[in-house]
Amino acid sequence: MNSYLNAYGRQYIDDDDIAAVEKVLRGDFLTGGPTALELEREIAEELGVTFVSLCNSGTSALHLALLSLSVDSAWTVFVPAISFVATANAARMCGANVEFVDVDPDTGLMTPETLRCCVTNWIEHGGSGPVAVVPVHLAGQTVLLEEIYDEAKVYDAKVIIDACHAFGTTQKTVDGSYAVGDCRFADAEVFSFHPVKNIAMGEGGAVTTNTQEIAEKVKLLCSHGITKDSDKFESEFEQEGIPPWYYEMQELGFNYRITDIQAALGISQLKKLPLFKNKRAELVERYRVLLGNRVGSTIKTMPHVYGCEAMWHLMVVLIDFSTTVRTKTELMKALQKQGIGSQVHYIPIYQHPYYRKLKGFIRLPGAELYYSRTLSLPLHPNMKVRDVDLVVSALLKELEL
Ligand SMILES: *Cc1c(COP(=O)(O)O)cnc(C)c1O
Repeated sequence: MNSYLNAYGRQYIDDDDIAAVEKVLRGDFLTGGPTALELEREIAEELGVTFVSLCNSGTSALHLALLSLSVDSAWTVFVPAISFVATANAARMCGANVEFVDVDPDTGLMTPETLRCCVTNWIEHGGSGPVAVVPVHLAGQTVLLEEIYDEAKVYDAKVIIDACHAFGTTQKTVDGSYAVGDCRFADAEVFSFHPVKNIAMGEGGAVTTNTQEIAEKVKLLCSHGITKDSDKFESEFEQEGIPPWYYEMQELGFNYRITDIQAALGISQLKKLPLFKNKRAELVERYRVLLGNRVGSTIKTMPHVYGCEAMWHLMVVLIDFSTTVRTKTELMKALQKQGIGSQVHYIPIYQHPYYRKLKGFIRLPGAELYYSRTLSLPLHPNMKVRDVDLVVSALLKELEL
């Protein structure tokens, strides 16, 4: 078995990527230089959004996006129960209360109905104060953006999309298509460029928005709350004017900056986005041909969301382990022995000890059913289509299907 099947996801790096990074290393700016600004411009153009602010991770991006909307301990943030913990953690980092929204048991996505149900329940139990919603585009597929946005606006909620899985996903509409990240149904959207994500920068993240105020706040907080822009200085200067060394810290910020080394890798990876998207689609299609349409079977591939042209981040299969000869643990171990990596995305966030202590016992039926069945199989651009055949035949053999 090829060693790159060892993990459910991994980066694809070629000589162009290495040359791009080397060029920055030999240049004047390792950080704070022109390369990061160049990547921000390129991403803005690619997605059709006005402002892009890079930072050092998807988690930082979520934190900055929430802070830019003034989320604090007076707020409640609604997140799907199925996501990486960072989605909920970012709200906690702002001091906000977190409420877990149930998901569709087949797609793992928050829906307008599960959101409404969660908010209604929260209000009935005395919930009040400003609210934000953070839907997650799980596996690269979009939630029902417009419907969730409309639902959120009923509660006057801010909407931040956690699009860490969905860089490169496009959505078809009656009048053309648009890119995830263009913020037509969100106050801000957030990406990650961790090596397993759709493009890799080592670590990296971005906040996109069409609101200047949000973009400026994200930039300020990304670098200590310091501004060097003399137009924005709060202090007044007389006689000699502004001293040449002067800068101003206006709010308590962080060092969440991206380096130019990472941005160089990002620029080079961005050129390969169409290639990556096609490759991932081709691999997913092969999985679907081999596993899909097994009517009444104990195994199925994640259903596709209508109109969504996903940049597939995960290859999710749903297996009814109540009817199989092996448990999920046994299956994963057996596959690993053959050099095939798999992973579970995700443990419902409320099951983690930190959230159990904070929120008490929670059990959401959609999230539990999704979690019991989900398994992510290898999917990354290093793979060949025939690798899918190897993975699927190993899987079916282990399950005696
Ligand atoms: C990866 C991921 C994050 C966090 O991104 P990092 O760059 O690893 O900090 C947040 N949300 C989701 C859904 C993710 O998959």
